[in-house]
Amino acid sequence: MLRQYELVDLVKSYDTDADEDALNRAYVYAMKKHGAQLRTSGDPYYSHPIEVAGILTKFKLDSTSIIAGLLHDTVEDTDATVEEIKELFGSQVAQIVDGLTKLAMIELKSKDTKQAENFRKLLLAMSEDIRVLLIKLADRLHNMRTLHFCADEKRARIAKETLDIYAPLAERIGMQEIKSELEEIAFRELHKEAYESITARLNFLREQGSNIVPAIIKQLEKDMEEGGVRATVSGREKSPYSIWRKMQKKNASFEQLSDIMAFRIIVDDVGSCYQALGIVHSKYHMVPRRFKDYISTPKPNGYKSLHTGVIGPENTRIEIQIRTQEMHEVNEKGVAAHWAYKQGEKVVGKNFRWIQELLEILEEASNPEEFLENTKLEMYNDQVFCFTPKGDLIGLPVNSTPVDFAYAVHSKVGNTCVGVKINGEIKPLRTILQNGDQIEILTSKAQHPSPEWDRFVVTGKAKAAIRRYVRSSKREQFVTLGEQMLERTFKGENLEFNEKGLVGILPNFEATSVEDIYAKVGEGLVTAWDVLRAVYPSYKQSKIGKVVKTFAAKSFGKTTKRKSKSEPLQIKGLIPGMAVHFAGCCHPLPGDRIVGIVTTGKGVAVHSIDCKALEKYSLEPERWLDISWGDDANDRVHVGRIKLILSNEPGSLGDLSNLIARHEGNIANLNITNRTLSYFELIIDIEVRDLKHLTDIITSLKSSKVVSYVARANQ
Ligand code: MN
Repeated sequence: MLRQYELVDLVKSYDTDADEDALNRAYVYAMKKHGAQLRTSGDPYYSHPIEVAGILTKFKLDSTSIIAGLLHDTVEDTDATVEEIKELFGSQVAQIVDGLTKLAMIELKSKDTKQAENFRKLLLAMSEDIRVLLIKLADRLHNMRTLHFCADEKRARIAKETLDIYAPLAERIGMQEIKSELEEIAFRELHKEAYESITARLNFLREQGSNIVPAIIKQLEKDMEEGGVRATVSGREKSPYSIWRKMQKKNASFEQLSDIMAFRIIVDDVGSCYQALGIVHSKYHMVPRRFKDYISTPKPNGYKSLHTGVIGPENTRIEIQIRTQEMHEVNEKGVAAHWAYKQGEKVVGKNFRWIQELLEILEEASNPEEFLENTKLEMYNDQVFCFTPKGDLIGLPVNSTPVDFAYAVHSKVGNTCVGVKINGEIKPLRTILQNGDQIEILTSKAQHPSPEWDRFVVTGKAKAAIRRYVRSSKREQFVTLGEQMLERTFKGENLEFNEKGLVGILPNFEATSVEDIYAKVGEGLVTAWDVLRAVYPSYKQSKIGKVVKTFAAKSFGKTTKRKSKSEPLQIKGLIPGMAVHFAGCCHPLPGDRIVGIVTTGKGVAVHSIDCKALEKYSLEPERWLDISWGDDANDRVHVGRIKLILSNEPGSLGDLSNLIARHEGNIANLNITNRTLSYFELIIDIEVRDLKHLTDIITSLKSSKVVSYVARANQ
């Protein structure tokens, strides 16, 4: 633990004007207030705020932040009050501590709703003063460092929240160091086996290659010297978490990830950055699509650097980052580097565009869960940069589409966009934007957001706006669906279907218009058969009964039908009670985009949108139903199918089933499709909650040493 004079000396080492007296008083105040309280580690409680203050000094923050760091838990955990702090340490410190206290009060609760509420409060507090976020991050970092002292059930929740919210926030304000450390600890906690397995592999590779990092550094230094560029080269292995992320993103196994080493070349000025890049590219083969120029177009968080991937010295695929010392400071310390030790200046978060955007989403969302989902989307991911016709730069997450771009420009542009010109050419709205694209959005006043867009947009802002529109236009959807269903039912019985016929039966259904009837059918309040009987009272009951009976018997048999009635599938866009089943070809899971196909005699089959079997229905659009998973679809068990190749060694099957079980997957069926002396080929059906659950299991399998190939089998 930092002693009082050590802390004061630290602050004074970078800020000679620091308020020494206030720092001393705050240190003593925190110790006195927390008194004999203990942490779960057995340490005195006051060691925690003092460590937090110590972390803040690493970022050379002003004394206001350091003092607020020392006092951050006093109002929450002791008899101290905000008024007292204001009197003793001034209104800025008091305001920050107040913001942090309000956060802490909600944090004790665990449900997702509380997490969302907590996040909302944090956002509002940091829009007043961004230092609230800096202290919160330091607080979280120290709590993560001491996480192993916590009770088990608490640990997973804290780690998950760290990964979902705090690491992306740290990234957003450019605090790379804090972000990486938070992620590594959380990853180790949440995916212990994957962490250990990746670490073991890294160690193995290191021994095998007798550590080639120093050799590559040496060669790069020599290259720079020969090219006449003064440079410092450093190198490291990528962290286990970033390797894991890459495995998930690229759907690759550890062996396929060749660039697990990253090197950094630090030079004197911007010109030298490009010179160094030239040397690297002229000497080594460049890996396509890995070059990124974040100097000419920095990331929104201020990050500047050149990135490239090459087949470097020792014939190894490596990643190289080139930047100046000044850029490096900003990249690692982010926001903190810009206003380090600026005394007395209030840093209002509203000046940050992204905080503004998160606040906008907050206003559009219908509930806290939706808000949380949308903002998580907003915070994650790398960026692509595109230009408006006037040359304004807009940064968007990777995989963004013109619709995302339109919403980023303005909600009005998003709501009315009908088409797009990318670099002068008309393209579909679902086209994925590339770095440097020039985007011209075509709009029409008659256009409305389409629910279809929700399937391909990636920004939280676009999602929130589209969903809001969809909510308000739900009735329209019910009307269209109801009309389709009625038409199908009538035609299926060879009976004439027209609006006129429905006008006469409005009173039967307490409807005031034909549309009303459609909506009721679409929503499932009235069945299509009820309407048919009302229009054609003379149509023989017995015949209808018979048709329904044979229909049911042909499709499922009695038991299945009863089951599907008592446990309706959680799918939106279908009339309740409609016969429905999952297609055996693609095993769709919640998280997959799905489509319904009306089959002859078997009700509706649910396929995943990229299922090959859909091709044969491409000429029959009337069979297609627009459906999506219901909100609680992942409350029930679904079957996902994977295929894998396992090495044929003693115990490998046991290892496999243990690993799946530890990830809460249940093997429903296992089929060995091929068996040789050295390996098994298997098809396994696993009961899982949703796509993410299956993906997690697959990723864990990939990092296991007995598995040499694994992939989802959904065709
Ligand atoms: Mn704390």
